[in-house]
Order: sequence, then C-alpha cells, then structure tokens
Amino acid sequence: MFSSSYSEAKHGFLQAATAVGASLQSFSVDSAGELTVDVAIVGPSVYSSALVVSSGLHGIEGFFGSAVQRALLDRLKQDTFEQNIRLVLIHALNPFGFMHLRRFDQNNVDLNRNFLESAAHFAGASAGYDQLDYFLNPKSAPTKLEPYKLKALWMILRHGVPALKAAIVKGQYDYPEGIFYGGSGLSRTAEIIRANYNQWLGNVPVAAHIDLHSGLGSFAGCKLLLSEDHNATRYPWYADTFGAHNIEPISNQKGTAYEVTGSLDRWLQSYCSDRQFYFVGAEFGTYKAQRVLGAIRAENRAHHYSRPGDPIYKAAKAELLECFCPQSDVWRQKVLDSSMDIINRAAEGLKKKV
Ligand SMILES: [Zn+2]
Repeated sequence: MFSSSYSEAKHGFLQAATAVGASLQSFSVDSAGELTVDVAIVGPSVYSSALVVSSGLHGIEGFFGSAVQRALLDRLKQDTFEQNIRLVLIHALNPFGFMHLRRFDQNNVDLNRNFLESAAHFAGASAGYDQLDYFLNPKSAPTKLEPYKLKALWMILRHGVPALKAAIVKGQYDYPEGIFYGGSGLSRTAEIIRANYNQWLGNVPVAAHIDLHSGLGSFAGCKLLLSEDHNATRYPWYADTFGAHNIEPISNQKGTAYEVTGSLDRWLQSYCSDRQFYFVGAEFGTYKAQRVLGAIRAENRAHHYSRPGDPIYKAAKAELLECFCPQSDVWRQKVLDSSMDIINRAAEGLKKKV
C-alpha cells in the first residue's frame, strides 16, 4: 500500500481505481502534465449522499493518505461500498510536494492556508511570526552542527507553548520563502477544487469529507479536527458518528486542533452551505511537535539554499518523510486500520442522515 515515490503512488491509485470500475478525472498542476490531482468516483448511478476522502494537501503526507485510499479501493474489489453513497477519492492535492518530498507546493505555499475568498486577504502575518521569522526561516542551508533543540527550547521558554504554536502555524502571507506561507493568490489546487467540487459530489443533499493528514499528535494516534466548535448545530452528528472522544472541536485550545487562516475546511463549509456538509481533518500523529517542526524547518532551508545532490538536502528530505510517514510497520498498520474505521463510521453516519 505504501509507495516509495509520487509516481508509484499515482500509478497504484489509478490501477486500483480502474480495477473497481471507478470513473477517473485528472487535473494537471504543471505544464508538462506530469503532476496531477487525480479523482476517482465510485458508486451506484443512483445515490443520495457522497463521501469524499482526500490525500496529500500537504504534499509529503500523501505517502500515508494515498496508502489509505489504495487500501479502500482494494477493499472495494471484495465488497461493494454502502449502497446509496457516492465515494469520491481525491488523490494528491499537492502533487509537487508529494513528488519532491515537501509539505509546500511549487510556489512554497502551504495549501491549507491558501483557501481565501478575496485577493486582499493574502496579506499579513501574526506579530509572533514576525518576531520568530529569523528562527523559523534562516537564509542558509541547514547544518548538522546547528543546536536546533537548544534554540527550540529557548523559544518555548520565552513564548510559552500555546502562544508559540498559534504564532507559527496560523499561516502567514508576508514571507514567501517561509514555512506556513499561504501564497499571494489562489493556488492551482484551489482553482481545481472550486471548479469541480460540485460535480464531484453530484446532486446530493448530504455529504461528508475526510481530509487525511499526518504529523500532529501521539504516535499512530488519530484525532478528527473540526473547524466548528462544540456549540455548532452540526456538532452532535460528529460526536454520534465518530465518538466524542475522537473529535476535537476548534474551541479545544489544549488539544491537537489549532486555528488557521485559509483552511480548506472553512472554505468548503461556505462553498457547500446549500447542502448538509460535514468535514473532518483526520490527523494522525507521528513524533513530538518539536521534531516535526525541526524537520519542516530544515527541509525548507534545504529546498531554498542547498542542491538536490547534497547530503544535507537528502538528509533533510529523509527526516521530513520519516516525520510524516514513519517507516514503522506498527505505525503503518495502525493508521490504515483507524482510517478504515473512520471511513466506515462516516458512511454509517451518512446513512442516518438520508
Ligand atoms: Zn497536513
């Protein structure tokens, strides 16, 4: 299930989708047509709800998300999915990052900070980010000697963890080479989604979307992050469907969830406001936040300031991959099993709604 490159993952996905008779659509994000967002639609010709499972919004997280989609397609060879549900699998929302082992896209954009309605919104950074830019984004290649851990510890002591997390991960629009940069306008991926999301869902009154992510939380643990708070009218559906202990409303400041600008979640919620629409960011943990942030930071420096053949470049890519898709067989089996459980629960939850 787990591929060792973007192209292997893409071919495996297309093959598995073809084997179950899916209808396929492909959208290029580059002029050569090599990098594509691929969509497989499976299900009966008559259906009353839709379930979307998407992978790789953060490029490198596609190694894990693609494996989940493959496992689901393989399962469909044996059993049909729930009757009445159209299944929409969106593979590799950030194919550039997937191919080049990056979280960000070809313009250094963190796509989950890019979904904004107006051009005027692509501006600004938190005051905390301004202060931390020199630490987060040094203008040099990473080195083995740099005392990242000491620096990180010092930052934590100085700013306190919740404030630090909020300042760093919220998204910023002022440092185009920096991490968590949301871009200067809508990305190609956002345009593809905007132009096609309605036709992917079809004419259904109810739909749910599971967007697969990794890198935050305890090793192989899973949290379902909501952009809604626990008072939202739709909160009970999430709690009934997935179990209250598995979901994290945005109001839970101590949890894994965090406030971001320009998230896919919020954008689709408003885009699909004429349907009953449910969205969860399924976040699978790997290593401690400090290690993961260190890997994102080092890879970004290597991307901008070193060459692909350099040992330091290769080491930075390898560490990023380990942080977002660990080699551990235990991790891999566990995340596949939990993902299947979440998908089954979402399908059950949809059945109750129609
Ligand atoms: Zn992610």
